[in-house]
Amino acid sequence: MVPAHPFRASLLLVCLLLKAGCSQPENPAQHRQFFALGTLIDLTIYGSDTTTAGLAATELEQLFTRLHSDWHAWQPGTLQETNRRLAMLETFPADTDLLPLLRESNRLSRLSNGLFNPVIGELVALWGFHSDARPDGPPPGDDRIQALVSQAPSVTDITLQDGQLQNRNPAVRYDLGGVAKGFAVDRGIELLQTHGIDNAILNAGGDLRAIGRHGGRPWRIGIRDPRGTGVLASIELDGGESVFTSGDYERFFDHEGTRYHHIIDPRTGYPADAVTSVTVIHPDATTADVAATALFVAGPELWESIARQLGIRYVMLVDHAGTIHMNPAMQQRVRFDNAPAAIRLSKPL
Ligand code: ADP
Ligand code: MG
Repeated sequence: MVPAHPFRASLLLVCLLLKAGCSQPENPAQHRQFFALGTLIDLTIYGSDTTTAGLAATELEQLFTRLHSDWHAWQPGTLQETNRRLAMLETFPADTDLLPLLRESNRLSRLSNGLFNPVIGELVALWGFHSDARPDGPPPGDDRIQALVSQAPSVTDITLQDGQLQNRNPAVRYDLGGVAKGFAVDRGIELLQTHGIDNAILNAGGDLRAIGRHGGRPWRIGIRDPRGTGVLASIELDGGESVFTSGDYERFFDHEGTRYHHIIDPRTGYPADAVTSVTVIHPDATTADVAATALFVAGPELWESIARQLGIRYVMLVDHAGTIHMNPAMQQRVRFDNAPAAIRLSKPL
């Protein structure tokens, strides 16, 4: 899916931090904001002339608007049509624009041992997250959840060869909400680069990719505290890095004292409940987006092995006790605003 997120506080924090470091008048930052992919897209271009920046920003906005409708999980568009034909177990040519995203999603799903599973659309819909409105529960009946889990939809049910899609499992339904933003951000950065833009940050609701530098200094961004309204930590980025966070605070409903959120553990059919947020730094945004979702499901016990399989070098998880789980390289880079309750360092990744 491409969820209809409310405006995210995390985004605001990023903007504030950027503004704080943006005081060189000879090289002003230029901004463009618009809604797409269910969230606020915030583009900052640094050190380019206004004509180039304006043209690139307009093209980027058009690109994102098109991708928004193509990839939408529950409104008419390319993905919905693809899902309709997959459900009929037909063999058919994949849409050429969608093909690279499906290929990459399937590849990364396998590397995550299926914890990132882009074909659990039926489950996400059952939980009520295929809706523009804020979901409000109650949770679906366990019998309906188990019926879907037992059909075990997986990317291994799908063959993608010579541009043809073939599906063997009627329970397969693509929902690209865990990867679409990352993939779009990568395409957006490529577009900026074709316009000769070397310094920019493309922020999709708090998830972002940066290229170049912010004047004389690196880009500096904030990571939201999953249980507060403030910043948990900040990170300085090398040009060409992406930072993606998956959190249980993005889309959820509370029912009888329990929070049910939008990241589903494909093994159980229920929201993954071991952590409250996961932040990943990685060069490309697609992998970072997938990894944040996969490691959220993996939780404190499994995240190291899945991160290695996905080739991720920087990870930070926050659990329900506020304990930070991270690898030593990540610890070198995060600056906490307040000392965390506890830190559990992993072996180097
Ligand atoms: P956000 O979109 O809030 O940044 P994520 O990247 O973690 O968060 O994506 C969550 C979305 O991914 C859900 O709203 C749903 O559409 C989809 N999804 C939920 N669980 C999974 C999963 N286990 N694997 C892949 N996609 C998932
Ligand atoms: Mg994701």
